[in-house]
Amino acid sequence: MHATLSFADAIDVAGGYRRNRRLNDELQTGEAAARTEGPWLLVCECGADDCAEPVELSTLEYEAARSHPRLYVVAPGHGTPGVTSTVTGAPGRFDLVELLRDEES
Ligand SMILES: [Zn+2]
Repeated sequence: MHATLSFADAIDVAGGYRRNRRLNDELQTGEAAARTEGPWLLVCECGADDCAEPVELSTLEYEAARSHPRLYVVAPGHGTPGVTSTVTGAPGRFDLVELLRDEES
């Protein structure tokens, strides 16, 4: 599990979340034109360098996740204590987490 993060580490982790979210958005943009139905296959946005956990969302879930700039989709249990807070999720499929500190670096 995650130990308590220093401020610098927390900023690093937050940067990882933003990077993965941008990656997902780039991946989905091309497909979005071709289909409006789900499922949407994303990559976990937890920001860990070694995490490439696939996460599947319905169109409704994807739109909900993108309705707020601080919400991120992660694999179950992949939120980072002290950096994110779990908002909701679908048991066994994904957690929707809010980035607590979201200033751009
Ligand atoms: Zn992850």
